[in-house]
Amino acid sequence: MQQNNPNITLITPKAPVAVATHGGRAKCLQRLVRLDLPVPTTVALSFDAVHEIAAGNVPDMAAMAAAFEDGQLLCVRPSSEDPDWGGPGAILNIGMNAARHRVLSEEIGPEAATRLYLKFIQSYSTHVARLDPDIFDDIDPREEGALEDYLEAYEDEAEEPFPQDRDVQLAGVLKSMARAWEGTTARLLRQAKGAPADAGLGLVIQALALGVGNGESGSGVLQLVNSDSGYPQITGRYMSQAQGRDALQTGAEALYLQADERGPSLEEHAPEVFAKLKDYAAVMRVKLREEMEMEFTLEDGVIHILDGVRVQRTARAAVRIAVSLAQDGIIPEQDAVMRIEPRALNELLHRQVDPEAERDVIGDGIAASPGAATGKIVFTAAEAQASKSRGEACILVRRETNPEDIRGMHAANGALTERGGMTSHAAVIARGLGLPCVVGASSLKFQTSKKRLIAQDGRVFQEGDVITVDGTNGQVLAGEPLMMEAALDESFQTLMGWADENRDIGVRANADTPADARTALVFQAEGIGLARTEHMFFEADQLIAMREVIFANDPEGRSVALQALLPMQREMFVELFEVMDGRPVCIRLFDPPLHEFLPTDRSGLRDLAEALGLSLSTVTRRVEELGEYNPMLGMRGVRLGITVPEILDMQARAIFEAMLDAAGESEPVVPEIMIPLVSAKREVELVKTRIDAVAAAVRTERGRDFEYRLGVMVETPRAALRAEDIAQHCEFFSFGTNDLTQMTYGLSRDDAGRFMSPYVQQGVFPEDPFHTLDQEGVGELLRLGAERGRKARADLTLSVCGEHGGSPESIAFCRTIGMDYVSCSPFRVPVARLAAAQLAI
Ligand code: PEP
Ligand code: MG
Repeated sequence: MQQNNPNITLITPKAPVAVATHGGRAKCLQRLVRLDLPVPTTVALSFDAVHEIAAGNVPDMAAMAAAFEDGQLLCVRPSSEDPDWGGPGAILNIGMNAARHRVLSEEIGPEAATRLYLKFIQSYSTHVARLDPDIFDDIDPREEGALEDYLEAYEDEAEEPFPQDRDVQLAGVLKSMARAWEGTTARLLRQAKGAPADAGLGLVIQALALGVGNGESGSGVLQLVNSDSGYPQITGRYMSQAQGRDALQTGAEALYLQADERGPSLEEHAPEVFAKLKDYAAVMRVKLREEMEMEFTLEDGVIHILDGVRVQRTARAAVRIAVSLAQDGIIPEQDAVMRIEPRALNELLHRQVDPEAERDVIGDGIAASPGAATGKIVFTAAEAQASKSRGEACILVRRETNPEDIRGMHAANGALTERGGMTSHAAVIARGLGLPCVVGASSLKFQTSKKRLIAQDGRVFQEGDVITVDGTNGQVLAGEPLMMEAALDESFQTLMGWADENRDIGVRANADTPADARTALVFQAEGIGLARTEHMFFEADQLIAMREVIFANDPEGRSVALQALLPMQREMFVELFEVMDGRPVCIRLFDPPLHEFLPTDRSGLRDLAEALGLSLSTVTRRVEELGEYNPMLGMRGVRLGITVPEILDMQARAIFEAMLDAAGESEPVVPEIMIPLVSAKREVELVKTRIDAVAAAVRTERGRDFEYRLGVMVETPRAALRAEDIAQHCEFFSFGTNDLTQMTYGLSRDDAGRFMSPYVQQGVFPEDPFHTLDQEGVGELLRLGAERGRKARADLTLSVCGEHGGSPESIAFCRTIGMDYVSCSPFRVPVARLAAAQLAI
């Protein structure tokens, strides 16, 4: 044993063993040794040593083997830096040979000894000699003479006798494991799990605890929590006369650990052993500050702890485990906050397909809004509403959605579209509603007029057939798989409370309706960062009133129509202010192109003509007139306010009156009014003049004084560049990164989904920029806009309200450029809160 060689180290409490050089398993075993747990003698080989072995430079085996007693059987297991990166399977019983077989036959009986030898020959020939595993197929291992037959089969195939020297066997095992790690498939597999290309492998050589023999011998695993729920529950299996993880194999005649109604248990079978194992596991939990799965072997009733592995867990279990470790004083609360991957919270916030469920995948698209929902297929918003009124769950299937589908989306349990990307209409609305949604599912054929959906394998789904959309991974499934409910339980709330104590950037929600606002409060958003007012107009009555405004052909007519809209708009704002109960509410003036409020199909046009008392041809002509070649760059946002200022007068009045009505006798909140799609400071001046006039009028009419704050949505590149001018006329900026991304790239947010995957696959874009903020390009504009804005006005409030506001990486970026808060869909608020806390810790 080269005691001074740090690459080959006997694990003792003080030996130089580290995760970064010897891997996680070696380090964990050292911790167990330090805890004085009964760990068999173990030698750790460093990444460098294993790399040398793969290159053919096998170290001095005799020296290495000196750490173990003569004749001691050994096992070798992988020790990668992160256990999730995998590694070659363990090889047990190294050292079995004719002599050892003879000795063991006397000690534990010929049958058990033969079983060990056969197992070793089999794994050696497959993994080390690389022989075809079926060479032993014709030999019955229970027959007398099986051992001779195995040895003969080996010799025939390998053209040499089975090696008898333990050092030779061990060298072979080490070399094969080292080389397996360096193979291309293994490398690609671990890279897919996030391992760097040059990730190293350590190996541990351990004295084998037999698990087979006299008295109570066997092996098993034990952990103190349930991996799915995270609740305390002693789980695992134990099998007598077994080695390694045999007890976990399906069909194994294994015992449960704790005595309960499930069946025979180790607790009944060997109560003292069980009690001791429980104690060891409890020590591991406290000292390793983690829930561990303990691998153990019994030899004639004596316990050996072979290994400890971090317990596998679902996201909900991860939260409960972290919180209870902190509550038990084992880890600080901040550590608990750091241990949860923010995106993993999505699994708790929504119903999900059970990870164990079978999935009959019929197609896939972009995972636009997380969670899974099952229902009968409907192809129109009206059918979705009818379905809801019958109490039937449904999935709204559309080629793409338009504002009129919102009612359908409210009624549906999930949505599926053929077109669109992360910021398409359907995706944004679905995230706001917490509705599971898959968009851009072009692997399916949408024959919506024939009311058919054709799966990628040709299966035809009709209206009424049941499907499931999995908005967490973008899959569409036939039928209803097993589901797992959302889990906003006490542990979740506790963790989020700790996160908030540490956070130094605000988190608001994008909420358009009182219902959204209530959801935002459930997730403890600090306010509303974006209320898209146009989304309030899609209720039936308002839609008609809005259409009357659009069709009015003179200012008087328009003013009458706007008068009808005013009370509806005011009522909606009153409710919004009331729900938010004094918290900040940022209301964005009208944004969308007018034609979005108009029907496109003939029957819709006919209905509209009827409702407005106009001829079909007049209505059709007007709709055509309003059509734009490129509506996303057309008369949207502030351009509408400049062109038809009466609309913004009405909105400002509705906001001020609502704010006073909601306040009653008490102090009114200071509403925030935000102007969309600004590109020139003059736009802001014009809008500000009108809003100031409305404010003055309302103050006089109501005899009350009040304040408001005016802000600009920075979502055109020019607004970012001219931020210094623009900031002189407003008090806050909110960066609309959806439009800013669209305009910086010149990439349509509604169409990009169609070609995004080849773009990402070929590395043109590292990610979909509508999904992950492009820090280099769009981010540069954010940085410039922030700097220039603050130059004009040092106390300018800065935020982001595009979809990126909910993504952990974007939040990190926003924090570095000094933003005050981020605003995202209500269901993403917890993810944002946790991510923001982790940045501050
Ligand atoms: C944006 O453009 O980023 C934004 C928040 O506004 P919308 O998505 O409504 O255009
Ligand atoms: Mg926008």
